[in-house]
Order: sequence, then structure tokens, then C-alpha cells
Amino acid sequence: MDASHTRQSHARKEAPLLAVSGLTVQFHARDRNAPRLTAVNDVSFTLESGKTVCLVGESGCGKTMTALAIMGLLPNSGAVTAGSIYFEGHDVTKMTEKELQTIRGCRMAMIFQEPMTALNPVLRIGDQISEVLRLHKGLSKKQSRAATLSLLRQVGIPAPEARIMDFPHQMSGGMRQRALIAMALACSPQLIIADEPTTALDVTIQRQILDLLGNLGKKYGTGTVLITHDLGIVAEVADTVLIMYAGYVMEQADAACLFTRPLHPYTQGLIQSRPALPLCTEQNSVPRRKTRLNAIPGVVPSLGNIPKGCAFHERCPKAMPVCVAALPPLVVHTQGHCVRCWLFHNHRETPDARA
Ligand code: SF4
Repeated sequence: MDASHTRQSHARKEAPLLAVSGLTVQFHARDRNAPRLTAVNDVSFTLESGKTVCLVGESGCGKTMTALAIMGLLPNSGAVTAGSIYFEGHDVTKMTEKELQTIRGCRMAMIFQEPMTALNPVLRIGDQISEVLRLHKGLSKKQSRAATLSLLRQVGIPAPEARIMDFPHQMSGGMRQRALIAMALACSPQLIIADEPTTALDVTIQRQILDLLGNLGKKYGTGTVLITHDLGIVAEVADTVLIMYAGYVMEQADAACLFTRPLHPYTQGLIQSRPALPLCTEQNSVPRRKTRLNAIPGVVPSLGNIPKGCAFHERCPKAMPVCVAALPPLVVHTQGHCVRCWLFHNHRETPDARA
């Protein structure tokens, strides 16, 4: 092994598995003369091997676009217009499509939200998984079939010898999702990006999948970027959490810190709108909810209608005049805990923000 190779390996060891810095993703409007629409705005985070970063927020907050940018899979109308994405020390945004193809599916893989559109409808499940193994690992037909069966077993698909011959439409939604997860795990990637991977699954299978992803981290040092709106899952698996809204990071902290002391009104709203377990009364053993579920009023603005100032001000119960006038910067509140809100500018926290 020569000195330059040793230096490179050393540098790679020290760099985080994934370092996203100032990532901005923009889309062309239909009218090419109209200003570009910004789907992801100045997003930064790092992911170490074996750790999990969760991207959290309602639909349309920029989570999936962040993931697609990391994978180099943005739609044709979108592009990374600022920032960098370093994966294993190499900037993904500077790679050619050919270079991306050598790492995508092998060193990094994505579990898509909707398996019916992610899987090829005219190919058998077994063939789709085997293809990944043959292409990236150079396995023979026999070896790839054995490895495919093992993967299907790992993700909890019953009777894999029979299901390997199924087409996607012959499987239930949950089975398709598990087949997609098996495909993503095929080459034991160093980075897995999972976009709502357990939404279509019942809780027992959800548990198995989360354990499987957790074990990959422990066993192989696989890092995970998990996109979810399920705060229960976040509390359980996340090391770091990014709360996103309208393309901006609103709050960023380690999971324990975020749940014990959520600062941003949007984070507080998300936590308060989480359903609690139904309560049982003493007289009646039938579970009964005692209080109405809290909800954040309004909806996430569309890309073309993001309000000036704080993007959340139209829905925020603590909005002030300054919130309408100017975008708050993302500031460090305490070590490792950042927040984008005028309530915390210069660390001037108002007492009611602690509620
Ligand atoms: S900046 Fe203002 S509107 Fe935005 S979250 Fe903070 S208080 Fe609410």
C-alpha cells in the first residue's frame, strides 16, 4: 500500500460519512422567465457512520428533495444551485452520472416512499433484487438467487422461495415495501436514505424493519438518513433531528435535547399534535380519548407562495411584527442545538416559548 493511498484512507476515516453544507435546491417554474422556486434552502448537517439523522416535517417541507439531491436523483426541472454534499469524502454534486451510478445502489441506497412506482412492474421481484447483486457485486446467477432469498427472509417475507417469482402487483403494499427494502440492503450500503420506509407497514413489521436498519448501523457502520413524520420513530432511532419547514431547517438538535426542550413553535406544534394512547376510564374499560388532538392551524405553503419573513409566521401562535418583516437566521442556542426563530435571536428566549 503506497503512502498516498494511506493518506487518502486516513483522510476518509476522519471525514464524516456524509457532510451536507449549505444545500440549496431550486426548480424552474413552468414559465421559464418566472423566478426559480426554492425547495431546499441552505440545509447543513453531517452524518457519522452507524448514526441516524432524521428529517422531520409535514409533506412539502423539502425532506424528500434533500434526499434526492444526496442520491443525485433530482427531477430534470430541479438542480442543486448552492452548497455541497460530501459522501465518503467526494462531492456528489460534482460527480458525473456515470460516477454516480457506481455508488448508487452499492455504497448508498434509497428506500423510496412508494414501492409501487419504485419497483419495475414488469419484472419479478427476485430478478430486480438479483440484478443489483450481479451488477454491483459480480455474483453469478446461482449466488445472486441465494443472496436474494436470504435478503427476502431478513425483511420478513414469508415463503421467499415462492415470493421470489412474484411480480410487484401480486404482493400486498407491505410486502412490496419490504421487497424494496431488501433491494436497498442488497449491497450492504454505507449510507441508506429511507423515505417514510414503514408508513405502509403494520407495527410488528415496522418494528422488524427498524431493528434491521439499526442492526446494519451496529454491524456494518451503515449511516441512515430517515425521513419521517412519525415522532415516535424519531424519538426511538434518531441521533440527530432536523425539523424542516418550507425548505428551511427550523430546528436542529440531538434527539434527547429536542424532545426534552423543543424550542421552535413549529417543533412544539408537531410534538403536541402527536396522538397519545387512548385512556381507559374506571367505570368503562372501553378505551376513550379524553381530549381533542391538537393540530397546527393552516397548511404548508406551496413553493410559489412561501411568505416573506419567517416562512411559518402565518401559522405561528407566537408571531410578532418582526416575523413578518424578516427571515430569522438559524442560530446556535446551546451547543449542538440550533433554532431559526426570532424568539431566540441573540439567545433572548421569552418565557412563554418554554411552554
Ligand atoms: S420567527 Fe416568529 S413566526 Fe417564526 S416561528 Fe419564531 S415566533 Fe413564530
